[in-house]
Amino acid sequence: MATAVAERQTGAEAAGTQAGKKWVYMFSELDEVEAYLQPKSWDDVKALLGGKGANLFEMTRLGIPVPPGFTVTTEACNAYLAHDHKFPPGMWEQEVEAMHRLEEVTGKRFGDPSNPLFVSCRSGAKFSMPGMMDTVLNIGLNDETAQGMIELTQDPRFVYDSYRRLVQMFGAVVLGVPDEPFEEVIAEVKKERGVRLDIELTAEEWQRITERFKGLVVAFAGREFPQDPYEQLELATRAVFNSWFGKRAVDYRNATGISHDLGTAVNIQMVVFGNMGENSGTGVAFTRNPITGAKELYGDYLINAQGEDVVAGIRTPQPISQLQQEMPEVYQQFLEIVEKLERHFRDMQDVEFTIERGKLWMLQTRDGKRTARAAIKIAVDMANEGLITREEALLRVQPNQVDMLLHPQFSAEVKQQAAAEGRLLVEKAVNASPGAAVGLAVFDADTAEKWGREGKPVIMIRPETKPDDVHGMIAAQGILTSRGGATSHAAVVARQFGKPAVCGAESLQINVEQRLFVVQTETATVEVREGDWLSIDGGTGEVFLGKLETQEPDFEREVELNTLLGWADEIRKLGVWANADYPKDAERARRYGAEGIGLCRTEHMFFEEERLPIVQEMIMARSKARRIAALEKLLPMQRADFEGIFRAMDGQPVIIRLLDPPLHEFLPSYDQLVQDLADLKVRLQHYHTLSEIDQALAEVRQKEDILSRVEALREANPMLGLRGDRLGVVMPEITEMQVRAILEAAVRVKREGVDVHPEIMIPLAGHVNELKRMREIVESVAKEVFGEMGNSVSYKFGTMIEVPRAALTADEMASEAEFFSFGTNDLTQTTFGISRDDAEAKFLIQYVEEGILPHNPFQQLDRSGVGKLIQMAVNMGRQARPDLHVGICGEHGGDPDSIEFCHLIGLDYVSCSPFRVPIARLAAAQAAIKNGQSQAGE
Ligand code: PEP
Ligand code: MG
Repeated sequence: MATAVAERQTGAEAAGTQAGKKWVYMFSELDEVEAYLQPKSWDDVKALLGGKGANLFEMTRLGIPVPPGFTVTTEACNAYLAHDHKFPPGMWEQEVEAMHRLEEVTGKRFGDPSNPLFVSCRSGAKFSMPGMMDTVLNIGLNDETAQGMIELTQDPRFVYDSYRRLVQMFGAVVLGVPDEPFEEVIAEVKKERGVRLDIELTAEEWQRITERFKGLVVAFAGREFPQDPYEQLELATRAVFNSWFGKRAVDYRNATGISHDLGTAVNIQMVVFGNMGENSGTGVAFTRNPITGAKELYGDYLINAQGEDVVAGIRTPQPISQLQQEMPEVYQQFLEIVEKLERHFRDMQDVEFTIERGKLWMLQTRDGKRTARAAIKIAVDMANEGLITREEALLRVQPNQVDMLLHPQFSAEVKQQAAAEGRLLVEKAVNASPGAAVGLAVFDADTAEKWGREGKPVIMIRPETKPDDVHGMIAAQGILTSRGGATSHAAVVARQFGKPAVCGAESLQINVEQRLFVVQTETATVEVREGDWLSIDGGTGEVFLGKLETQEPDFEREVELNTLLGWADEIRKLGVWANADYPKDAERARRYGAEGIGLCRTEHMFFEEERLPIVQEMIMARSKARRIAALEKLLPMQRADFEGIFRAMDGQPVIIRLLDPPLHEFLPSYDQLVQDLADLKVRLQHYHTLSEIDQALAEVRQKEDILSRVEALREANPMLGLRGDRLGVVMPEITEMQVRAILEAAVRVKREGVDVHPEIMIPLAGHVNELKRMREIVESVAKEVFGEMGNSVSYKFGTMIEVPRAALTADEMASEAEFFSFGTNDLTQTTFGISRDDAEAKFLIQYVEEGILPHNPFQQLDRSGVGKLIQMAVNMGRQARPDLHVGICGEHGGDPDSIEFCHLIGLDYVSCSPFRVPIARLAAAQAAIKNGQSQAGE
């Protein structure tokens, strides 16, 4: 909120008073708008008129039947908000003048009972903020014009229904009357009559309701509902302006990054009535299917109905194709119009229309919201149709939409079926982290963790999450909260762990103590208790009761996605490689389009069940000879792993990193050992037989032995201790074994005919002398292996850059290394002096929430700090060795913003997890396109 107020004050200074300025434009005055805005990009037009207004002007220019009207500009809104909520000089006079022009155009008169004009007053900012600001419909209705309308239409029921809507909306939006009393009155009248639906109420009942609504206005607002149409208009205009700083709107902008100083325009438009009989109707439609992206008209309409009725679901709407039978001429005209709109706006349109006594009116058009799948299909189809370029198609798909297609999903059919069975509990909460998740409801982190350990899938449900809940979130399949938006703790953490999450599902009444939530659906009140099955779709923000079937993504069958990524590959400058530790990961990476392995973390192979005891034996060895004996047992296992990866990556480079973590990670924890020993010694007191005692003593000796080794390896700051290439210096035999395994594997698969390109990478180096030492070992082992095998392979030797000193001395490092790979996970830790594990659990989320850090630097590369070091290292390294090959293998390699940075500083490739390879391909192409465009535009 503080930022909103600050920006508002800045707006105040900038706006000034501008007497004589034009604040109001008729929909037919687009030429004047363009003459005022120099230069006149479409973006400028939208900034002045709002997105909705700009499209109404454009439709009017295209000759499409739009109910006439005018727009009060965002500049007027900003001037109003900046000057104590006073209309800027001349604005109101212009608005009244525009009403007179509207009267001329429509042949109706505002407030004239014999031929009344009614208008709607709607907000509309530059960027669509659906439902976040206010709207008032049917302005101009009062006791007199209502009478006049009854005479004109002979339909008192329709007139009083419209009138009560105005009193209700005006009361709520303009005069701040709460919604509930209005709803209570309607419920009461229905109860008296014993009916369930609004449409069953009569004219007299609506008239009575209208009168009671007027009474509510007096009771709550302390004033009469205004009968003067111009007073209605003025107050509604103010209310829309004020709603720019309404809580909902401010929160929405904070969550979506929309600036607070844009202001909203106000669109005043003649009301057309779709409820004037059987030749009237209203509907909404998309020019393509917004779920699948198929090129087909998609939408619904209702005969003899008003706008809200379609959305409110009181009556079941007809599919749009039905209109062809009911009103063939109108349908034909509608088809032509929407085709024209799509061609003109060069994107899928979402339109609203009304038919008033056989005449079609287009009320609104805007770029339609769509699923990830539809976004991709529509972009590819439109490029193939020649409507947009391939570059535009690439820019229209968000990298995270690609991500959604690669998570398990619920098919549209499965969801429709569940909804039809009344199992849709939440239709639209915040789609915080994509993917489908199915699990048992749990209401606290400890239970989530416990059940997770027992192998049960769980959905963790909380009003909101806190850092204390993270262990439960990790154990859960998905996360559901009733509070908080896309930047809440739950959302941020869920995305970080790749867990599907639905946040801010406000309709859930969660009772953590009783371990349940209650939710009111359209048809019933549903109670969900701990242990009940739930299914959540983090890509759409939907929640379903029960166990919905999920679909594994099948990348090869995603035809449009593969086409789009093929176009991306032609454009991008960055290579896209993958971090993969096992052959199956390497295979997946390759299927997803990886061009090499940028990081194979060899320690993951050490953790495997049958290997860990041998690794422990190696660590426990008190002599070099024993250590070598253990390493010899590991050698064939590592060699087999590498062979598998080399085969999978036939023809492509594979960077293998030598052992990195501190050795204690492979041993039992110190605390656990101390505890076990204490237990054993207590038990020892109770044994009686000699054999029991001998056995227990042997166990004690063994544990004490391990404990002494663990104590010897114990470090105050293990991440800054004996790890990385320091291990290779202290225990060169480990390095020797690994290098031997790599090169023997390479020679063996080469003999099979595999085109093998091994690259050996040193972790954590900070001084060139470390690299020199490592290189000596590598070269001497290579000589031995190639001699023994009577065959050789070419390989590369390179280093990770993970500590600032390595970056600062990159020229020296490049004298030994043929390639650099920026390990930005460690480089971020060591540059900030922050331990990631501690930071994310303790303070980092607060830092981001309070704006101390603009984002989590472990997810999005810190361009100005860590980025500066990288850039410097690249430049110095390439000066020392012009053909130095440089890439990045920290998590940032899969983050679109960080990928753009890598493009800008000219890295050769990014390397990321196999699942993110498609995202990186798209992000790299987008970086190339955006960067190329900005250069061309300069
Ligand atoms: C890094 O530090 O960025 C890196 C890739 O290494 P790891 O994550 O294994 O420490
Ligand atoms: Mg690292």
